Amino acid sequence: MKFKGVGKMGILEETKGLVENSIQELGLPKAVFEHLKEPQRLMIVNIPVRLDSGEVKSFIGYRAQHCNVLGPFKGGIRFHPQVTIDEVKALSMWMSLKCAVVEVPYGGGKGGVVCNPKEMSEDEIERLSRGYIRSMLKIIGPEQDIPAPDVYTNPQIMAWMADEYSSAKGHNEWGIVTGKPLIVGGSLGRLEATSRGCYFVVEDAIEKLGLSMQGLKVAIQGFGNVGSYAAKLLADAGAKVIAVSDSGGGIYHEDGLPVDKLMEHKVKEGTVSSYPQGKRISNEELLILECDVLVPAALENQLTSNNAPNVKAKIIVEAANGPTTAEADSILTDKGILICPDILANAGGVVVSYFEWVQDLESFYWSEEQVNSRLQLKMADAFRRVYDFCQRQEVPMRKAAYMLAVKRLGEGMLTRGWVK
Ligand code: GLU
Repeated sequence: MKFKGVGKMGILEETKGLVENSIQELGLPKAVFEHLKEPQRLMIVNIPVRLDSGEVKSFIGYRAQHCNVLGPFKGGIRFHPQVTIDEVKALSMWMSLKCAVVEVPYGGGKGGVVCNPKEMSEDEIERLSRGYIRSMLKIIGPEQDIPAPDVYTNPQIMAWMADEYSSAKGHNEWGIVTGKPLIVGGSLGRLEATSRGCYFVVEDAIEKLGLSMQGLKVAIQGFGNVGSYAAKLLADAGAKVIAVSDSGGGIYHEDGLPVDKLMEHKVKEGTVSSYPQGKRISNEELLILECDVLVPAALENQLTSNNAPNVKAKIIVEAANGPTTAEADSILTDKGILICPDILANAGGVVVSYFEWVQDLESFYWSEEQVNSRLQLKMADAFRRVYDFCQRQEVPMRKAAYMLAVKRLGEGMLTRGWVK
């Protein structure tokens, strides 16, 4: 998926602007912004990897450790050809905000490697993943910085990373990364956690607008880990998933698509767009479909000033990080669309990562039911806090979420004496 019509300022500057504005409105010391405007540490590494051909190729890797005032740095690692420093920095800032909104005791972090995993063999991806961990050994750890999956990284990659870290330390350290397979300290429910969190947000949001899950018309952009499970959970609950898409394009059917079959099709064909029933549509067309709920679950900068005026959804639930530019955000808000912002809507992943880490540290594992019900409590609490703040202060949901997050980060800084 291309970054089309990217906001004029870029995601990093836009996020900084929102954070600075929240600090001012909350009357927090200006120094809070000095702590939040840049990551505490930014590591850039060169990772030479032996390819299957025998040739050695090097890849650039990043890790941004944004702010650990409330706990160790936490956040995924993205493998994508378009990863940039500014993107990783923005994503790490969002992690600090996200963890603060859902009140999990973590700071924000994010990693990325500029690579195209779709063109690499499994062995090459394994060597790259292990190389990334070796390069970052000094700055990561279960009490320091805990990576996790993100775009185009998965449980297998997390297993290689945990193994590499454990070998370097001389003992198993399952708490070093989350999103691992069950056999090496993973948690039940982690794979679907981001989607399940999103699902709970959809439930809460539709209730506020008096809509029902039965027959709810949903369009989902992105059919990776997050989009596909979100589609499944929503369809299983009675919603009509009328359109889905991935980087190959989308598919639409007004009566609803068979999500299980789409998942099988995606595994076999690598894309949902060639599914034989329904009408083929572009990603751009999906975003402006007539529907109740739009779930952007792909990359940043998808809803822009170009397409926002044509969006017809009543609710937007941001399963992706940063799918809406600042300009699009104000257009959509003016149209009266209820936007459930990314730092709330996709926080289910890091919430269950937190549960996984707690289980690893205690070597005591929970049932799937325990994981899912604790996730539901966390998401419902966070939704209620954000929605109540938005009603009380008469601000949009995104602003409410930012203000609550920044308030918590600021309180942490004041209490620790980082700012006076
Ligand atoms: N990559 C996910 C996110 O953006 C999960 C991060 C984590 O679990 O640490 O929230």
